[in-house]
Amino acid sequence: MAARRSGARFLPYFEDAEKAAEELEITLTSRDGGNERIPMCGVPYHSAHTYVERLIDKGYKVAICEQIENPATAKGVVKREVVRVITPGTIIEENMLDERENNFLLTLSGSEGEMALAAVDLSTGEWHVTEMTDGLEFVLDEASSYRPREIVLEEKLAQNTALREKLETRLKCLITSFTLTPQEEAEVMKEMPRQFPDAADVCKTPGLERVVRLLFAYLQQTQKRTLGHVQRLRRYDAKQYMMLDESARRNLELTVTLADGKKKGSLLWLLDQTATAMGSRLLRRWLDKPLLSLSEIKRRQNTVESFLSDFILLDEVRDLLKQVYDLERLAARIAYGSTNARELVNVKRSLSVIPQLRERLINSGSRELVEMGEGLDECVDVREWIASAIVDEPPVSVKEGGMIREGFHEKLDELRAIQKDGKSWIAGLEQREKEKTGIKSLKIGYNRVFGYYIEVTKSNLHLVPEDRYQRKQTLANAERFITPELKEREQMILNASEKSVEMEYEIFAEVRAKVAEQAARLQRLAESVAELDVLQAFALVAKKYQYTRPRVHAEDGLKIRAGRHPVVEAVTPGGEFVANDADLDARDRQILLITGPNMAGKSTYMRQVALITIMAQIGSFVPADEAEIAIVDRIFTRIGAADDLIGGRSTFMVEMAETCHALKEATPRSLILLDEVGRGTSTYDGMALAHAIVEYIHDQIGAKTLFSTHYHELTGLEETLQRLVNVHAQCIEKNGKVVFLHRIIPGGADRSYGIHVAELAGLPATVIKRAKQLLHELEGRMESEATAKETTAEDLSGQLSLFDYQGVQKSDPVQAPAVKEADGIGAEIVQAVKE
Ligand code: ADP
Repeated sequence: MAARRSGARFLPYFEDAEKAAEELEITLTSRDGGNERIPMCGVPYHSAHTYVERLIDKGYKVAICEQIENPATAKGVVKREVVRVITPGTIIEENMLDERENNFLLTLSGSEGEMALAAVDLSTGEWHVTEMTDGLEFVLDEASSYRPREIVLEEKLAQNTALREKLETRLKCLITSFTLTPQEEAEVMKEMPRQFPDAADVCKTPGLERVVRLLFAYLQQTQKRTLGHVQRLRRYDAKQYMMLDESARRNLELTVTLADGKKKGSLLWLLDQTATAMGSRLLRRWLDKPLLSLSEIKRRQNTVESFLSDFILLDEVRDLLKQVYDLERLAARIAYGSTNARELVNVKRSLSVIPQLRERLINSGSRELVEMGEGLDECVDVREWIASAIVDEPPVSVKEGGMIREGFHEKLDELRAIQKDGKSWIAGLEQREKEKTGIKSLKIGYNRVFGYYIEVTKSNLHLVPEDRYQRKQTLANAERFITPELKEREQMILNASEKSVEMEYEIFAEVRAKVAEQAARLQRLAESVAELDVLQAFALVAKKYQYTRPRVHAEDGLKIRAGRHPVVEAVTPGGEFVANDADLDARDRQILLITGPNMAGKSTYMRQVALITIMAQIGSFVPADEAEIAIVDRIFTRIGAADDLIGGRSTFMVEMAETCHALKEATPRSLILLDEVGRGTSTYDGMALAHAIVEYIHDQIGAKTLFSTHYHELTGLEETLQRLVNVHAQCIEKNGKVVFLHRIIPGGADRSYGIHVAELAGLPATVIKRAKQLLHELEGRMESEATAKETTAEDLSGQLSLFDYQGVQKSDPVQAPAVKEADGIGAEIVQAVKE
């Protein structure tokens, strides 16, 4: 959609106008266009951004056309050109972005087997590239970690409809197909070294080079200007980080909750005690990519520890950080050429905090903090340019003057003196005229239409020197006059004022351009500040909730003593959260099979183990009395029963797809959480699947696994699977009611308490009574059947056995009769498991 600026209006025409009027619910008008009426609609220019934002949200791109000639001097129709195309992934406007979130534009090129990815955030200037050879699922997971607003697909890839559809359903963002003509390609090649001085070092393969070229060309075609702030090209290997696929991020509620998709209640919400927006964005990125590097984790931990050993230092650093504005986005907008003088002043204010911050860190006595302090570039030159050029409180507008400091520019000072002298000359003239004419109430005033005038009340009109005064305006009780000398002065003042406003803009633009040249330095500083900010936030959270430093290692065991779920603990009043241990290792305790009734705390427990691992690998302290964390390469989750309504898949299908993903991709270093797998299908089906899956993980994968189930029959697996251990969420019955202790203890659960839970939930008493009666009958029947079959001792654990499970267990699980009769989906997955 194209819209052009015309005076104070922002106007789409023709079909664009029709579409805009409909989408934005504004009036469609038209204007004369010779033979036909031209449809148009418009919104005030100053509020155009809110309309542009709405169009972008609806999936449009908006081309902005502006006059590129001065209408005063242009001959004929004033020339207009598209000056920029705003797309979801290229927004840089502060008021259209969430300050605590990145806004990534992604490009993918290559083939399914060997794909290159480039991600740029134009609003911060960061640019990441990587190459992946692990298949489409891997690419989708990596792409989704950026939560892109827009994806540019190389045309060849865009023709792959399966890929396109998958991207659309998973990432739900605008997808554009894009290609370059050979000529465009050649031009981009020429430009590249200027844009990315270190491109040759970073883009070591043809795939990387190509993806960067494509994205760069797309930016050039949409932004139509030099992008001095987008120079930080970084290559990374996705496998350097813990891989968290989309469902793991969602299920573990890392950045938003499952219930309402909001930040509040997520791990990010809990940890986000950052003092700056830059820190908040970085924390989010860290959560998306936990580390695998022990040394880097330890470096972060050391810094957190330094803060925790000196609370005064922590407080002081926080206070200083709070005074730092969003330097990263400010630098980007300055380089983009879209800042006003106020934002320059905000850069100056931020920079003037840095020397104090630097000194404080250098004097901290902590090696990591001293290093960070020494690494801070104070950018004194930039601060001084801005301080010497721009006044402390400049106006919002850059076109009305009042920005440049007295004494900065000689010519400007002269023009200002002319205005000032002129004004004092006029003030003097009022006095002189009063004396000359004898009119005591004579006044000199100014308005936009007539400029300066002399005002005389009706009663004094007879004293007006008719030969010198020219009548200009008649009011109810006064007349206004001008004199040639007054007009001459007026002209001088107005000329000087007009010129000085113009000159101020020029000077401002020069200062801005000079600062823009230093954008890369400001961005580097911003990065360091952001890192410091996240680490102090970790310290603050650790202090508040008494977290401890985990021992992260590359050996085997994952041991947590008195661990807590960070978010549930924080929202559980009065320290009532029950801490639990966890102990997993590859040799004896690879799989914890967790039983216990609904609501007993199973999934909270599973999640807390995963969250503690993630927290440990982003360098944070953890909610536990003690923790040893063996580095985990991936976390897989199958938790909860959220239907993928948008994706159109049933609960069971989602459940199986997520499980399948885990079984295919997990390594012995992975952590798998499977919560009640199989409950989405019939009991026999579900139980057989759960059994087969556990066996497969045990025998084939070796990944540490937390497996919760309501099939108590599975606890028998402990006998046959050497590395499987039963634990259960303890509950007791008190006065006929179930009480959840939320304690995870060794052994399998003996009953399901389902009816008790239903009672707690408030099901009508008659239903509960009838259910109890039926249960009793069933149990009786089962018992007599069991006796008849002389079931083995293992089966007499008081559980409600739905069929002779021992029998099934001893045979090949995939051959179990229940599965043979299973519906198509279940059987298919079991087949996949078998393979
Ligand atoms: P399950 O997965 O067994 O159905 P949940 O893990 O969903 O149970 O827990 C149910 C509720 O119990 C949670 O919403 C939480 O409020 C509470 N809860 C769980 N674990 C604990 C705990 N360790 N301490 C205190 N409350 C807990």
